[in-house]
Amino acid sequence: MVLHYSDDLLKTPDPNGGKFGDWIVKKDTFNVTCRLCKSNVCIKEGEKALAKHSSSAKHHKAKGAQAGTGNIFQAFAQQDAKQREYK
Ligand SMILES: [Zn+2]
Repeated sequence: MVLHYSDDLLKTPDPNGGKFGDWIVKKDTFNVTCRLCKSNVCIKEGEKALAKHSSSAKHHKAKGAQAGTGNIFQAFAQQDAKQREYK
């Protein structure tokens, strides 16, 4: 199946629990750029190509680096909430 870029792809769920729109940016009809790891992804294979990219090591490393920062803040927030509960 040959697929070209469509805004519908932005709303398609990705295997990591988000949406492709969280990280893809249209480059041209058959290519998108990944915002997280700056890779070019050819989408002629359709969603399959995006799903494959989202589970690649390079992508996960870039995603992990971003999520890691968020998790630290989240951990602090949870700790705060717990401390308040026990007071
Ligand atoms: Zn990526």
